[in-house]
Amino acid sequence: MAANHRTFIVFLGPPGSGKGTQAKRLEKKLGLPQVATGDLFRYNMKHNTELGQQARAYMDAGELVPDELTIRMVEERLSQQDCAKGAILDGFPRNLNQAVALDMMLEPYGGVTVAPLFQVDDEIIVERISGRRVCRNCGAVYHIKFNPPKQDSICDICGGELYQREDDRPQTVKNRLYVYYKQTSPLIGYYFAKGILEKIDAAKSVDEVTMTLLAVLKRYGIVE
Ligand code: ADP
Ligand code: AMP
Repeated sequence: MAANHRTFIVFLGPPGSGKGTQAKRLEKKLGLPQVATGDLFRYNMKHNTELGQQARAYMDAGELVPDELTIRMVEERLSQQDCAKGAILDGFPRNLNQAVALDMMLEPYGGVTVAPLFQVDDEIIVERISGRRVCRNCGAVYHIKFNPPKQDSICDICGGELYQREDDRPQTVKNRLYVYYKQTSPLIGYYFAKGILEKIDAAKSVDEVTMTLLAVLKRYGIVE
């Protein structure tokens, strides 16, 4: 393996399929940070940065933020010290243009290592998204039925207030799914052609999905 090789895992799958939940679980075990573009945009919106202001209207409508802004943000994030061994990419790339840009970015490090595809039916997605609650303070993710906090509306980890994301309301969810099928799903073929697509049954429980993912990552030599 080349000396400058790094591990980049691309979590592919529709919104609400459990990518963020699994990325957070695996971060420590793999020693790789989760790089979630949705979280980065939400952070920028919360702090009212120029990027946050530029992204807001797209996010509220469930549309993709323009590639130029998104790619620049990812490039900057991946250049940070904690990505020196690689990263778990969650929510990026989301169209072919972004996938090609990512390949160029990662070319010196051996490219994308593996792309697990989180497969779940639309009905499950709608159920998961409608029950998703996020901590306003630390960003931890809960589900009112599948992963409820110990105390109603309060984060177990930091005591922050839990809220429902604006774009998790039913009308926007429909559009986000449409955007996924139209713009993001072509990436399935893109990574399949590279021989690194790994289908995951993401309808199973959180623990079972973690176990499936670990088995795949083991085959790629990413984890023991
Ligand atoms: P994504 O990052 O793909 O948008 P999340 O990880 O935020 O998805 O998960 C969406 C919602 O579904 C959250 O409320 C989460 O708690 C819940 N969830 C995640 N994985 C599972 C699972 N395997 N079974 C049941 N609920 C899940
Ligand atoms: P997520 O948290 O992944 O569900 O993303 C929430 C929203 O952030 C999306 O609906 C988009 O508006 C925006 N977003 C996240 N990742 C990207 C990306 N790679 N490209 C464009 N927009 C993105």
